[in-house]
Amino acid sequence: MNEETRHPLLKANSVITDVKESEEDIVLNISLRPNKFTDFVGHKDIVDNLKISIQAAKQRSEPLEHVLLSGPPGLGKTSLSHIIAHEMGAKITATSGPAIERAGDLIGILTNLERGDILFIDEIHRMSKVVEEFLYPAMESFQIDFIIDKGPYAKTIKFNLKPFTLIGATTRTGLLAAPLRGRFGLFYSLDFYKEEELARIIKNSSQLLTIKIDDAAALEIAKRSRGTPRIANRLLRRVRDYAQVLKMDKVERASASKILDDLGIDQAGFDDLDRKVLRLILESFGGGPVGIESLAASLNEEVDTIEDAVEPYLLMAGYLKRTSRGRLATRKAYEHFGLKFNREQQEEIF
Ligand code: ADP
Repeated sequence: MNEETRHPLLKANSVITDVKESEEDIVLNISLRPNKFTDFVGHKDIVDNLKISIQAAKQRSEPLEHVLLSGPPGLGKTSLSHIIAHEMGAKITATSGPAIERAGDLIGILTNLERGDILFIDEIHRMSKVVEEFLYPAMESFQIDFIIDKGPYAKTIKFNLKPFTLIGATTRTGLLAAPLRGRFGLFYSLDFYKEEELARIIKNSSQLLTIKIDDAAALEIAKRSRGTPRIANRLLRRVRDYAQVLKMDKVERASASKILDDLGIDQAGFDDLDRKVLRLILESFGGGPVGIESLAASLNEEVDTIEDAVEPYLLMAGYLKRTSRGRLATRKAYEHFGLKFNREQQEEIF
């Protein structure tokens, strides 16, 4: 379906992979965010493990150890942090790596924390090195030494902090400096969700959004949500808009499927940007290998967008391979677009 013939509601381009959230998205995300472990679907091992650590910390009347959460965007890192705060009965202060520009910003935040508070730093891998250095002693001994002036007039100001818990979230553990990684006591890596788990999230959200949707329709949305709860909720909201305008009483599988098709989300859960990335590799780079920079430049997109929001799912679902020479489209990618896989040299790799 081309842009012009789409329903006006459906003109959004990258419904799925768009990393820039609208204000409505942000507000709804907060209202749909699980606050308790019982509302957090999936990742049973992580939840069980965290429950024990939280219970032990509470018994000792100590703050929880610092926690590092990693995984692609939209898998529940922020949600888990809020749940941890809720279960610890602690106040949570949220910021992000790029938002802390100077050491002074960090010191301001840290000195305002009360005993047992939680500091959540999203995108912690994007914190500047200078700021990061101040975080080490703060995490380890709840102290910061700040040196003012230079040479003979140099003076050290010592800040004693109240014991707190740092929860860091990152989409790329690989970019974290080893000394920072090593200072986290608890480390959890969140993976993509199973379709049944996403269907459960969609059913729960449909009640909060007061939209009637049957189990088969929830599963249909789940199948196209790229293993990601945030996308599942986003698709559900688009389906809700459509159902409302078309005065549907209840969303069933066939109508959910039609709405998603019209939205440009295909059976594999790809949206326009996914398709652009794959088609570019297949058609302009002969299936690859192609470097991420060349890809991003050809698409006029940020490298980070491709690496954080597009690539992880394509890799996990087997449409792309990462090789030392760049990204390579797999046989599955060729087949998805109805193209013939006839590259001799690729056969060796698979
Ligand atoms: P991240 O911080 O990893 O980008 P979020 O915690 O912001 O992800 O999750 C995005 C949205 O997805 C949340 O607002 C929530 O609605 C939903 N969500 C994420 N994980 C879960 C889960 N395990 N159970 C239910 N909903 C979830």
